[in-house]
Amino acid sequence: MEKSSKFLIFKGRTNVLIVTNDNKEAIIVDTGIDEDSGRKIAKFLNQNSLTPVAIINSHSHADHIGGNSYLEKKFKIQSYSTKNECAFIENPLLEPLYLYEAFPPESLTIKTLAAEPSSCNSIEEFNINEFGIEIIRLPGHSIDMIGLKIGGELLFTADAFFGIDTLIKHKIPYHVNVKNSYLTLLMLKEEVKKFNAVLPSHGDLIQSQSEAEDAILKNINAILEVRDLIVNSFESKKEVESVISQVLNHYGFSNVPLAQYFLLKSAIMSYFAWLLDEKILSLETEDGRLVAKKI
Ligand SMILES: [Zn+2]
Repeated sequence: MEKSSKFLIFKGRTNVLIVTNDNKEAIIVDTGIDEDSGRKIAKFLNQNSLTPVAIINSHSHADHIGGNSYLEKKFKIQSYSTKNECAFIENPLLEPLYLYEAFPPESLTIKTLAAEPSSCNSIEEFNINEFGIEIIRLPGHSIDMIGLKIGGELLFTADAFFGIDTLIKHKIPYHVNVKNSYLTLLMLKEEVKKFNAVLPSHGDLIQSQSEAEDAILKNINAILEVRDLIVNSFESKKEVESVISQVLNHYGFSNVPLAQYFLLKSAIMSYFAWLLDEKILSLETEDGRLVAKKI
């Protein structure tokens, strides 16, 4: 007999997906930003008479793993993700470390960038078949992000794309490997046609395929817009720092908090990697400055 699974959505700034089986057991998919999020999830499970058996983290960003530590202790459960994401979940300081490109100052170890560490096991060690769900790889937004397929009912897409309101607010959506994100989005544009509903981590549940496709297209266009802005800012060569400042000013991010600056800078540097790999730009140093040249 086919395994039947159901799901509940605990809406929040980061949506939490709860997958349940016939025995009232539950998998918690992502845990919000902090211990308080963990407490709210625990209460929600209690209200629905569910017993959690595991946490699956779509990826290691702080707003998806912040409740792990609390929930692991409270329910004596373990967290699972891909091996590459686990490295960050177990060592959350790695995130501000790569954003800052050195050991970060305390002002960058805030909870939005570095969650409390928690355990993490490879998703391959968890028998997801018990819940009738499948993993879908969604690399790009983070190194090795995953989403979930629940039959033909729901496709959970984590941060592969953002709900339109979130996209409008963020303007430059964060992708650590924007080339992979672009490829993931092209794949998802077709994949969403197979599901009744699609749930991004940030945004509302999308219950129409055309709406899902539209949201994905808008996310693709947002990526291409930033890419074009960078490419078109070149005549021949330009200091990387001045391209970053041009992009930030273009989107109205002229004076942002430090944490946001480093996130945006990392997002923009990902476009440079894409353009370097495609041999559209080259990168070199000149007079102690990092300079990009159009090839
Ligand atoms: Zn994220």
